Parts: sequence; structure tokens; C-alpha cells
Amino acid sequence: MNIHEYQAKELFKKYGIPVPDGAVAFTVDEAEETAERLGYPVVVKAQIHAGGRGKGGGVKLAGSADELKSAAGEILGMDLVTHQTGPEGKTVKKILVEQGLNIKKELYLSIIPDRVTAKIVIMASEAGGMDIEEVAEKNPEKIIKVFIDPLIGIQAFHCREAAFGLNLSPGPMKQLNAILKNLYELLVHYDCSQVEINPLIITEDDNVIALDAKINFDDNALYRHKDILEYRDIDEEDPLEVEASRFNLNYIKMDGNVGNMVNGAGLAMATMDIIKQVGAEPANFLDVGGGASAEMVENGFRIILSDKNVKGILINIFGGILRCDILAKGVVQAAEKIGINVPVVIRMEGTNVDEGRKILAESGLNLITAVDLKDAANRVAEIVK
Ligand code: GDP
Ligand code: MN
Repeated sequence: MNIHEYQAKELFKKYGIPVPDGAVAFTVDEAEETAERLGYPVVVKAQIHAGGRGKGGGVKLAGSADELKSAAGEILGMDLVTHQTGPEGKTVKKILVEQGLNIKKELYLSIIPDRVTAKIVIMASEAGGMDIEEVAEKNPEKIIKVFIDPLIGIQAFHCREAAFGLNLSPGPMKQLNAILKNLYELLVHYDCSQVEINPLIITEDDNVIALDAKINFDDNALYRHKDILEYRDIDEEDPLEVEASRFNLNYIKMDGNVGNMVNGAGLAMATMDIIKQVGAEPANFLDVGGGASAEMVENGFRIILSDKNVKGILINIFGGILRCDILAKGVVQAAEKIGINVPVVIRMEGTNVDEGRKILAESGLNLITAVDLKDAANRVAEIVK
């Protein structure tokens, strides 16, 4: 789960990580109220779940009430396009108004779990503020990495290593040490998959402050962080994915036109691979789960069909816990209730496959039965061509 910058900064504050004074605003009037309290100059920042807002025109400095009103008016309601939003952009529904600070230097800082080393890694760079992806590509030596064994936790020497790498003077170095420890605590406590500050700034008077804030949470651990759930902003998520999560379906929307319904994440990935292998593109990942009911299958179908790009559907089920007859019932129910307007290819094997085939055959639906997975993929690829 992703959250907004203003929410991440709330958590930063709780953990003693310095952030600029400010508040979220939904209207120009609210923005002005906050700006009057802070005093000018202020910064107005679009709150969307995507980075690169600065370059896209979603971050503006305002030195007076007039400038603030025009900046807030411009950003609120705009469809902000950044390299992370896709060409259609994201509509800005709220802004963060913060005190404008005098920046001496912009640093980059993030902490993430590293799967390869099974450690937690601090990544830091003097080349902050700009696209860190670009730095990683062109000047990888400008990014320092400090690996932390999670069983030992963050120690003073880790912090010193990062601070030396950033060429900090003693004042900022001390502040960075505290920030690193607190950020590490936050990451571990909330099971974050990433915390990122870009830029972490050094002000003219040598204060180290998180000017930006990004936190990602591991969805699988959210059950033990109920306090974080209220930060979820469904407006920022794909509507079909939100709908799918209501039914406990693991659904991820993709760009292709072959909708596919599969039970089991591994089988779903193998199915997507084979769809690509025969020259077609999957429209989604959907794992209906091992213990899916006919209702879940029906809901899955409805979600796949709501995707206007879908020109054909491939159902690939290995009946284990989810028996083939249950699946067949779900398909027939879905067809009766919503109507299936695209060709459907089915490959089905396993428990109760004969009963399943019988239900499908007697349903009167126009379904294409494939003999095996390769055959199924070829047929659906032929259809969407
Ligand atoms: P992002 O583009 O979505 O990552 O948004 P950021 O929060 O990183 O803001 C982009 C840039 O705006 C920063 O790198 C800064 O250069 C600039 N900026 C943000 N806040 C301030 C501020 O208080 N003072 C000044 N001078 N610049 C700011
Ligand atoms: Mn940033």
C-alpha cells in the first residue's frame, strides 16, 4: 500500500524525523489559511500517489497571497502527468501547503529490505532531488549503500558510514544519525517495503529536514497495522483492483487484451508467460485462489469483463481444492447474470473435471474447450489477433 506525502510526514513527525511545518488543503481557501499561519514563502505540492511531481508542474513556490491563490488554484483539479502516472495523469484532489525553506543541498536517502542479501539497506546520495533512477544508471558510484543485518539492527557505525559517504559536516552528521535510526525504526515497525526521502535537505542554517516523504507498506503485513489502514486512498488506486480486493481476489490490471482467470499465483504467472509466448498480451493477473467459491469466480469474471480492452478470455484451472464443477457453476452464473460478450477458451483439469465439463456443455454457452494449456493459449491468441 502506498500513502500520500502528507500522511508519510505525519508518521515521520511521530518518529522524530524533522519535516517542514505545513498542512493538507482541499480548497484554495484552506490553503490560504495555512499559508497565512506559516508566513510566506510557502510551497504548494500536489498530493498524488506518484513521484516526479516537481517536473510535471505539481510543486510550486508562492511568495505572496496572490501567488499562493494562483498556484493552489492551478494545481487543485489538474490532471498531473509525471513519469510515474502514465499519459492520462492523475487528478489532484488535495495539496500540501508547507513553509518554503532555503536549501543549501539536496540529498537522497532511502531504506529498503534487500532480498538478495536478506539485509536492510540504506541508500544515500549527494545527488538528491533529481531522478534517482537516472543517477543509478549514469553514475552508480554516486549512490552509497550500507547493509544492516536485521538481527543486529542499526548501529552507530552504519550511520557514520552513510554520513561520511555524504560528506557531511559534524552538525548535519549528528542530525542524520538520528534521522537514520528513526527511519529504520519506522520501516521495521510498520513492515514497510520502502521509505524514501528525496530530497533530504540541508538548509542554509545547517538543519537536516525531510522535504519529501514516500512510504510503501507490505500489504501482507497490513493486518497488524490497523492504524495505517485509514491512510488508504482508494481514489489513487485502479478501480478494478479496488473492486477485486473487496472480494479477496488477487487481481492486477495490465495492458494487454487477453483476460485470464486462473487459480493459484504460480499457475497464473505460467499462464501469462504462455500467453506472451504465443504472441498475445495478458490484460490482467487474476488468482481466484485455491478455495474459491462459485461467487468468487463470478466476481472475477465481472471484473475481467469490466476491462474494455479485453477481447478474449482464457480460463485455466487446475482443479485441486477449487473443484472443476464449482468453477463451471461460477462461469455459468456469471454468464447468466452479466452476459459474456467475448469468446472464452477453457482449459480445465483435475478434481471433478467430468462434472465440470458436463455443466459447461449443458449450459448452452458458446465456450471453446482446449485440450491443454498450449492449445488454449494458441486459440485465445488467434481470437484476439
Ligand atoms: P517530487 O518531484 O514529486 O519528488 O516532489 P518533491 O517534494 O521532491 O519536490 C520537488 C522539488 O521541489 C524539490 O527537489 C525541491 O527542489 C523543490 N522544493 C520543494 N520544497 C521546497 C522548498 O521549501 N523550498 C525550495 N526552495 N524548493 C522546494
Ligand atoms: Mn521528491
